[in-house]
Amino acid sequence: PLTMIKGYSEVMRDIPGENTPENVQVIIDEAQHLSALVNDLLDLSRIQAGMRKPIPECFDLDATVGEVLTRYEAFVKRQGYVIRFSSVGETWVMADRSMVLQAIYNLINNAINYTGEDHTVTVSLTRQNDSIRFSVQDTGAGIAAEDIPAIWSRYYRVDRVHRRAVIGTGLGLSIVKEVLDAHGALYGVQSTVGGGSTFWFDLPTVETSQTSLTTSQEDKP
Ligand code: ADP
Repeated sequence: PLTMIKGYSEVMRDIPGENTPENVQVIIDEAQHLSALVNDLLDLSRIQAGMRKPIPECFDLDATVGEVLTRYEAFVKRQGYVIRFSSVGETWVMADRSMVLQAIYNLINNAINYTGEDHTVTVSLTRQNDSIRFSVQDTGAGIAAEDIPAIWSRYYRVDRVHRRAVIGTGLGLSIVKEVLDAHGALYGVQSTVGGGSTFWFDLPTVETSQTSLTTSQEDKP
């Protein structure tokens, strides 16, 4: 991104008539991409260095997912996406809310980026015995079985050429992995080539709200 930012700025400074809104937009987009990359790298290195350990709190996962989806409303309308939500009602979990939010955002962003022509993404919560499963399903191209083990690694990308609705840095799934490993959570993906993918993770449920709730405002799409 810095090469693009520098290049476009120089062209706009030196060449008459190149100071256009389109060229400024390239600079803004590249700056945004760079900022996402730096933030993802910082998150990842903090977690990997053990500096960012989960701080568990009790929160309602269903309500949290509902809040996340309201953050996408404007984007979804503007870009013509449909995000369905299959909710289960109040469900308490004990986990680091801001880390779990990061995993949720990254999985939803990927589903939006890779979903098919119908532009549809389905987010579901399903109760299991003592846990709750969060899953995000898309209708995209899916992932070949041989690629699946590698997608959780830093910078790994199955296909470098794709249309992106949301900024992707190649670090999203490695952050999801670190967050879920830090929680000892089960997670995975079911995918068929041509049939879309479903990314999921499980968190153990707790009986009721055990402590006072904190609502963090760090959440971002
Ligand atoms: P990226 O910024 O490239 O999306 P991620 O770490 O989030 O980085 O994902 C790594 C790779 O895994 C992606 O480049 C893509 O090849 C694959 N991938 C992730 N999510 C999906 C999905 N929902 N459908 C198909 N492929 C996916």
